[in-house]
Amino acid sequence: MTSKIYFADARAKGYDYKYSFVAKFEQILNMIDFKEFIAEKDYVAIKTHLGSYGAHRIVRPIFLKKVVDKVKEVGGKPFVTDTVRIPGLEYLDVANMEGINHLSVGAPVILADGIFGRDSIKVKTGPILKEIGVASAIYYAPAMIVVSHCKGHISSGYGGAIKNLGMGGISCKDHCGEAERGRIHFEGNQHLEWLDAKCIRCRQCVDVCPHDAIELIDDSIVIDKSKCVKCARCSRVCEVKALVAPITEEGFQKGLAESAYAVVSTFEKGRILYINFVTEVQPECDCMPMADTPLVQDQGVLVSFDPVAIDQAALDMINSAAPLPQSKAADKNVKNGDNILKAVTGKNAQLHIDAAYELGMGSKEYELITITEKDVEEGEGE
Ligand code: SF4
Ligand code: SF4
Repeated sequence: MTSKIYFADARAKGYDYKYSFVAKFEQILNMIDFKEFIAEKDYVAIKTHLGSYGAHRIVRPIFLKKVVDKVKEVGGKPFVTDTVRIPGLEYLDVANMEGINHLSVGAPVILADGIFGRDSIKVKTGPILKEIGVASAIYYAPAMIVVSHCKGHISSGYGGAIKNLGMGGISCKDHCGEAERGRIHFEGNQHLEWLDAKCIRCRQCVDVCPHDAIELIDDSIVIDKSKCVKCARCSRVCEVKALVAPITEEGFQKGLAESAYAVVSTFEKGRILYINFVTEVQPECDCMPMADTPLVQDQGVLVSFDPVAIDQAALDMINSAAPLPQSKAADKNVKNGDNILKAVTGKNAQLHIDAAYELGMGSKEYELITITEKDVEEGEGE
């Protein structure tokens, strides 16, 4: 089966609003029949990533506002949401600093798993995770729009719609305060392993932990398991690999797809719309406390009802673009035609897209329906 994907490129070739990327995004949204998947008075989750202190390349509020407006146009009740990454109230502060708040987007901005990151409902999924806690505000919403910023990722190679669902749709903790999302990062009940002989006592892991769960005490790294949410940030920043997260690349990516499957299974078929921004494609996830320069030029925005097709299209687009100078791609000497994200992250992103496909979440074949110059010329604008 071939899935339809609507696409608008990021160029703005004239001095009028109608040529802007924002206007082109509006045109794309106008090609979608929102009444087809949103009934009047439906609460509609607009799931995005709110960023991090230092990670500013997320989807800007003006685009979220356009999505909110479309939902309201058909009588839906939108709310913009994400799940707890850093402590809840701090995360809402981050959102506000990024300019995402009720005033800017025109809808409440809430944490789908509550300010303590514990509100979720267990949902059955595949053989690796068995079950996972879907954030309650997402679980109970009858319709959802998943707005993703496409970028690289240190564990999955690429983060788009499937990652936004599988990682971002899950509560941070379970009802007892144990790590829930962290079950995707760490296999089974295992925990971080600290390798004393390799450790150079640089304290990077201590400084990067958003939950104050790791300390350097008497020359030893000590992890407070009651605070640790198994986010694996600390092991990512350890340059000498003295902190090991117990997971294989395949285990992580398959678990991610299973988790995304669990989130999708809480909706009736056809009631989730996916929007992928292939812009500011930086090498790392927006949950890290930084954002490097983009690896490729801004490509545009994709819209589809198929999470597998839209991620496949975004990945293909990134990997067939020219690597940019002054980026990590240039540092790694990546050439035109190379698999850019694999060269930069060391991970094969296709693994989790294939896993989602195997779970029946969508098609890897797609047809791009691109906004033409004529469409843009005829655009009514604001
Ligand atoms: S980041 Fe790695 S090397 Fe540095 S203190 Fe932590 S464990 Fe040791
Ligand atoms: S995995 Fe590391 S960074 Fe994440 S909460 Fe645990 S100690 Fe902190």
